[in-house]
Amino acid sequence: MTRETVSHRDGHVYEFGPEMDPVYEAADGESLTVETIDSLNGEIQRDDDLLDAIPEEVNAATGPIAVAGASPGDVLAVEIEAVRVAEDRGRVLTAPGFGLLQDDPEIDHPATRITEVDTDESEAGAVEFEGIDVPIEPVIGTIGVATGGGTVSTLTPDDHGGNLDTTDVTGGTTVYFPVFQEGAMLALGDAKAAMADGEMCGTGAEIAVEVDATLSVVEDPAVPLDRPLLDTGDAVKTLASAETLEGAVELANADMLDLLAHHHGFSRTEAYLVSSLVGGLEISQVVDPQVTARNAVPSEYLSVPF
Ligand code: CA
Repeated sequence: MTRETVSHRDGHVYEFGPEMDPVYEAADGESLTVETIDSLNGEIQRDDDLLDAIPEEVNAATGPIAVAGASPGDVLAVEIEAVRVAEDRGRVLTAPGFGLLQDDPEIDHPATRITEVDTDESEAGAVEFEGIDVPIEPVIGTIGVATGGGTVSTLTPDDHGGNLDTTDVTGGTTVYFPVFQEGAMLALGDAKAAMADGEMCGTGAEIAVEVDATLSVVEDPAVPLDRPLLDTGDAVKTLASAETLEGAVELANADMLDLLAHHHGFSRTEAYLVSSLVGGLEISQVVDPQVTARNAVPSEYLSVPF
């Protein structure tokens, strides 16, 4: 099968909702390439391009892509084979009312730094911040599927995925989503050349990318999935978003207990106890309209049940 490319020029969304019209229909098991534009639609190109406020349309997500055979109750597996930066610069910035330390009077809001891509630094490349070379480790910030009900901006993460801003969402990771609607309706964008856990100033090095991925439907999953789940190869991580970090880590831990109990034949109490011994809680981001956290368990203790 010829590998298809789905570009943001073919179609993109700024919202995930229950009814989404696909720009492409993929076969179950199809491998394709998805091209995304940076989260600010290419409007920030120089250090003096400042963001006075968060634009109404941000985080364009390429798609949606319907996957044949995906029905509510199924799981969509998105195996990310590679993420490649597709332009010569990223941009890291903060804006008024945005970011963890938005009330700190000693920090300029807005502020922008262009991070030029330095391909000489190493085979993988680097982006440059004021003389510091930061290795390119691409992250897909926004990735999700049609919701079970309600329309959600691509700026907000929730059970359908969306603006998860999670460093593990990169090449080599498989992301699993609950399917809420026929076809699942995958869309993704908002990539970064590099990003720290937490995304404290509100962005990573925002950049256009090309993503190679294989999309597969899991029917009748052995453990029902309510929220996104990751398999990085080294660890299995539940991923949850809520209004507070406490709310997010409670959901991530509760979801992890279902997986540990299934894998080991543990009671829920035994799963709870062992979850306090291996792996641990991780912060994805603390700057979006809901925050995102994960509960990680190393692969030697847990494998994904589908
Ligand atoms: Ca984001």
